[in-house]
Amino acid sequence: MTERDIIIIGGGPSGLSTALHLVRDFPHLSTRILILEKARYPRLKLCAGGLVLDAEVILQRLGLDVREVPHVDVDTIHFDFEAKGLNIRIPKRHALRVIRRDEFDNWLAQKARGMGIEIREEITVKSVVPDEGGATVETDQGVFRAQVVVGADGSNGVTRRCIFPNAPVYTARVIEIITPPYPLTPAPLMISAPRSSVAFFDFFPVPNNIAGYVWDFPTQVKGEAMRCWGIYDTNLLAGEQRPQLKETLAKEMSRLGFDLDDYEIKGHPIRWFSPENQMSVPRVLLVGDSVGADPLFGEGISMALGYGVLAAREIGEAFQRNEFSFKRFRRRVLWSPLGQTLIARWFITYIIYTIKWKWFQILLWRIMKPVVIVVAWLFVLNWGKRLS
Ligand SMILES: Cc1cc2nc3c(=O)[nH]c(=O)nc-3n(C[C@H](O)[C@H](O)[C@H](O)COP(=O)(O)OP(=O)(O)OC[C@H]3O[C@@H](n4cnc5c(N)ncnc54)[C@H](O)[C@@H]3O)c2cc1C
Repeated sequence: MTERDIIIIGGGPSGLSTALHLVRDFPHLSTRILILEKARYPRLKLCAGGLVLDAEVILQRLGLDVREVPHVDVDTIHFDFEAKGLNIRIPKRHALRVIRRDEFDNWLAQKARGMGIEIREEITVKSVVPDEGGATVETDQGVFRAQVVVGADGSNGVTRRCIFPNAPVYTARVIEIITPPYPLTPAPLMISAPRSSVAFFDFFPVPNNIAGYVWDFPTQVKGEAMRCWGIYDTNLLAGEQRPQLKETLAKEMSRLGFDLDDYEIKGHPIRWFSPENQMSVPRVLLVGDSVGADPLFGEGISMALGYGVLAAREIGEAFQRNEFSFKRFRRRVLWSPLGQTLIARWFITYIIYTIKWKWFQILLWRIMKPVVIVVAWLFVLNWGKRLS
């Protein structure tokens, strides 16, 4: 049986961020951490790869520069309803950076290894059983034992299912498609920036009971310019009659000259944050999607990095006190700038996706633009800087 003080299950952004922050803030723990990852890097992860400034701020504080990863800079984010809407630009910098997750996660894992963190790949965790003295982690390659286990194994994670088998789960449906850039047809939207450098969020599906949006981002695959499309549905209107996600996305893509049937469709759920979500039991903490991503947009990379900051602090202090109940972790998350943005986004989600009338979407994205920008600036964005 392999023993370590801290076992992190999952080497995505939340697990790697937890490890990197532990090493930065509690360097004496660095050789006592083990990450178990079921895949081998660079591994595929279904994700549009939109990286907001808050993610970059957290990485910068670790001394990491995400520009080392292949990326596309987005000048303008456009929130749309029926071909008109709100543009977000940030003076003198990009509004969003788009990475591919195989490249980003591989880069972050290399950085972690460079800091002395041990990562074992191609090990699948089957169960986690906490007890008074620690936790037992059963895998397809034997049994591991730790003082503390971090469940960073994503939306379908086994850790959460082991420690909270009956907890309610709020899960969004998401499908994604990668296509070549636009065919050479004129941009149909009235936007000053070239359409190829704009990331679109289109809320036209909401009145049809799809509580989410269609996205269309510029991206790159192996250096070649591409577009990443997808549709996100929180499932908040699951009780109503809804069209198929595929059909709704196909409608938007055909407007721009694409036939969805020409491309491979991939889907993956996103577990989203609700203030009632549980986050820990004695000896075991959850981070990232296993607690919950942003319900409003399904944004979870910056959140995953942020959960890592808080989990590292909680674990480091637990070792200092030799007390591993983690009973204050939920409060630590909810009262943090990360928790506050998640609560604000959860609240806004219930407003903008359940008041599903067309006039409300028009009011929101076309008429109340200054109010939306102020609310976004105060409550949705800029939390990364405050999560020191
Ligand atoms: C289609 C789609 C589009 C998205 N687009 C965006 C976007 O543009 N921007 C954004 O910010 N977020 C986006 N997200 C959300 C984002 O991908 C997640 O929030 C983020 O990946 C969460 O990170 P994590 O580390 O918690 O989990 P994950 O990234 O899912 O990492 C979990 C890791 O655990 C490993 N693992 C799982 N089970 C086991 C096991 N039993 N044993 C060992 N290892 C295990 C997995 O292999 C994986 O490496 C999108 C999600 C989807 C599905």
